[in-house]
Amino acid sequence: MTVTARAVKEIEGLTDKIQSLAKRRGFVFASSEIYGGAGSTWDFGPLGVELKNNIKRSWWRAMVQVRGDIVGLDGAILMHPKVWEASGHVENFVDPLVECRSCRHRFRIDDLPKGDALMEAWRANTLDVSGTACPNCGERKLADPRKFNLMFKTFVGPVEDTASVAWLRPETAQAVYVNFDNVQQAVRRRLPFGIAQIGKAFRNEITPGNFIFRSREFEQMEMQYFCRPNDAPRLFEEWKEERMRWHRSLGVPAERLRFREHAEDERAHYAARAVDIEFEFPFGWKELEGIHDRTDFDLRRHAEFSGKKLEYFDDLTQERFVPYIVETAVGADRTTYEVLCAAYDEEPDKDGIRTVLRLHPSLAPYKVAVLPLSKNERLSPLAREVHASLRAGFMTVYDETQAIGRRYRRQDEIGTPLCVTVDFDSLEDRAVTIRERDSMAQVRVPIAELVDRVQERLAEV
Ligand SMILES: [Zn+2]
Repeated sequence: MTVTARAVKEIEGLTDKIQSLAKRRGFVFASSEIYGGAGSTWDFGPLGVELKNNIKRSWWRAMVQVRGDIVGLDGAILMHPKVWEASGHVENFVDPLVECRSCRHRFRIDDLPKGDALMEAWRANTLDVSGTACPNCGERKLADPRKFNLMFKTFVGPVEDTASVAWLRPETAQAVYVNFDNVQQAVRRRLPFGIAQIGKAFRNEITPGNFIFRSREFEQMEMQYFCRPNDAPRLFEEWKEERMRWHRSLGVPAERLRFREHAEDERAHYAARAVDIEFEFPFGWKELEGIHDRTDFDLRRHAEFSGKKLEYFDDLTQERFVPYIVETAVGADRTTYEVLCAAYDEEPDKDGIRTVLRLHPSLAPYKVAVLPLSKNERLSPLAREVHASLRAGFMTVYDETQAIGRRYRRQDEIGTPLCVTVDFDSLEDRAVTIRERDSMAQVRVPIAELVDRVQERLAEV
């Protein structure tokens, strides 16, 4: 399908608008911005940390709390260097990189013109870039490609030698595999069971980009589901559906989500099957989450490299075997971007355009804003009292500057589902107005019932 120039402009406009809102309202800042930024790393501001925490809570609730067959883990970022040999990352987690001898720019091969064909040639060891022009300067002076490992290297202790090398983990999953036996001993689960983990991971991407979609430091929410080999195909299908349901539960429309199965030649070295859940971002369909049948690759490799048995013993059948693993892996930052894009909306109103983040109430940074009708010494005490009554139960914000209409718009823009307005009648009737973000409908509620009524309204969606 060709995209018209006008559509492209609209898409660029939408991406810009979402990123500008994210910065202006305190969701996401460029890291070290006063120094000019730090290469595609991002800081989550006051609103962003609430949104991302809510997403992580929702994931943990769905994967651990309500299931009973999955337990949690929080592994260290630094691990024994042999972990990454066993996992295959030292050998296989590489991108081919070429440097232009004329302008010194570096490129990933798949970012060059006809990149797919060049990648194929690279895999087949027949790559020749001598005829390819540098995308930057146009000279045909690209050097032969060299392998570039995407893991960040560091050193443990004061001496920087090969014996002290450590890697910042490029995925959280390995901490689960190396702890398989510890967790088994500690909690005694029967197969199938899972171990879930949320944590930071690092990849030295040569071409990061698209805002928080691809960055060098990011947060993963990964779950490893251990099972009998025969059950893996069925569980793979079940987890596909289960994970899709979760994305929809965040309020993301079904038509902006889809599955994409990986072809054999694009699967990672450990996966027998891999499917992505993709979301339609303003800049196109992109991967959010991967569901992988990792077979017994990981446990076998760690058993081989560590010399420790990583097996499951079934005391009913007296069988001993290496379990298979079905993995679900999703980015917390990517999901945050997904949710922002899905929630962003504009609609015409009497003052021009109303911008609304139609966030699911469970994800909204603030659930309720308390707004005195105007900044007034008679209204403030009651408004503060109302605010205090809500704070213990909900994330709230208090705002009394500027006209009430502008304050409603500010709350719409950050996705606050409910505004509570305290006006001069409130002083007489001990009642306040609840205004709903999406419909803008207003209802009068006695202050004595406010907490219950807010609770009800937030639960309705
Ligand atoms: Zn060049």
